[in-house]
Amino acid sequence: MTAPHPALPAKIHPLVRAFLDSRDDVDRAVRRAGTPTHLVFPQVFAENVARLRDVLTPRSPRYRICYAHKVNRSRAFVAAAHAAGIGIDVASPWELHGALAAGFAPSRIEVTGPKGEAFLRELVRCGVTVNVDNMWELTRLTELAEDGAQVPVLLRISGFASTPVSRFGIPVDHAADALNLAATHRGRITFRGFAFHLDSGEIAERVRAIDACLTLVESAYAAGLSPTVLNIGGGLRQVFTADADRFDAYVHALRDSLLGRGERMSWADNTFGYHVDDAAVHGTPVFHKYANTVPADRMLADLLDAPLDRHAGRPVAAVAADNLLDLWLEPGKALVDHAGITVARVEFTKELADGTVLVHVDLSRDAVTPADQEVMVDPLLLATAPADPGPVGVFLAGRLCLERDLITQRKVWLPHRPGPGDLLVFPNTAAYHSDLSAASASRWPAAAKFAVVHRGGEFEICPDDEYSPVAARNGAEVM
Ligand SMILES: *Cc1c(COP(=O)(O)O)cnc(C)c1O
Repeated sequence: MTAPHPALPAKIHPLVRAFLDSRDDVDRAVRRAGTPTHLVFPQVFAENVARLRDVLTPRSPRYRICYAHKVNRSRAFVAAAHAAGIGIDVASPWELHGALAAGFAPSRIEVTGPKGEAFLRELVRCGVTVNVDNMWELTRLTELAEDGAQVPVLLRISGFASTPVSRFGIPVDHAADALNLAATHRGRITFRGFAFHLDSGEIAERVRAIDACLTLVESAYAAGLSPTVLNIGGGLRQVFTADADRFDAYVHALRDSLLGRGERMSWADNTFGYHVDDAAVHGTPVFHKYANTVPADRMLADLLDAPLDRHAGRPVAAVAADNLLDLWLEPGKALVDHAGITVARVEFTKELADGTVLVHVDLSRDAVTPADQEVMVDPLLLATAPADPGPVGVFLAGRLCLERDLITQRKVWLPHRPGPGDLLVFPNTAAYHSDLSAASASRWPAAAKFAVVHRGGEFEICPDDEYSPVAARNGAEVM
């Protein structure tokens, strides 16, 4: 018996699976949307919101979920967030205008990230909560706001002990200056509390940040302020893999191949962030997030239940409630997890001088890959033509024209060699994959985005910006 080929099977939401299993629905969607296209599933978004609520409601008397809009440009997700009754975290004037247009009241909008003069001037007037990134911003707000304006502000804190230095936020050691400034200008700005956002998936790092913020809450009271919010940011993780053992086996084979053992699995000399010497492969690869198996709701529960040593071991959620603090969250990727796929069409295949098979699709790397990472879930092949038998290891290439612009720089085994017109579906692309780095290089337009909704036993599709959670719009096509 021959061993199965290395594979990275993707976890797929049942609703998305049902859609993909109905070839007629996929074909109708592709006829409507063209290829390449990003398909978003707002109902999966709503389910992700519900799952976080199920964790929060029993633990925290008062909380607010703010959807971090920057994860995806989709208007359908913004509409779904609004319909779900949560708040929104915006990071640019355009995201702010989109949130207002979707019906968010300013009181449910929070603005994060470094802002700049023009944006600050707009924010002073519009009643949204400003999550302040730095002392300049805070100072400028106190100057721009009029007496009695009471612009709501959170202070974003960073520089916690044993945490990598961040380019964002006010260092925890400088917080006293910020509190003094906020106290001096309390008629112009209303200090609401503290915020942080950490990139890491480490619970312990977040617990240390929460602990430091609770100390700052005491300092705020001492400065005559009354904080009511503790904002613990985003960073709840996604689960991409359907099979952790196969993931490990793939990575094992990839590492072997980097040492020259077995079949070559990487394009050119890409080592995916590993450091390779003669004897071994070291370090953390760029794709480590794809190995995660802890879902966002469990990560959130573990964080809220974590004991705080300085508070007699009481859990995070209880200590926040004891201190009359509302817990705010800014999940991005956790809310769009499994709520988007990208569909591309195979143009042709070709064989290179060394026998490597390239599959060319009508897509560019930046439409399915977050920045400098490598996507570690396999695309699904939907074939139309009779299949060439047997699995084949290929690299996927597409638009863009540099040698390194392959869609996969790792070998992907497809069930057979595809033919022109076959579809390739890239799973779980909504979080940062489709929109974060997408550029219009070579003047290709961005892939179109459509929303797919399941209503009355049928799948409907409509342009992303026409999606309405309430009722099927006239423009929607029943499939
Ligand atoms: C990007 C971002 C988020 C969302 O992060 P996820 O990891 O997608 O949950 C939340 N808050 C801030 C300030 C951010 O910049």
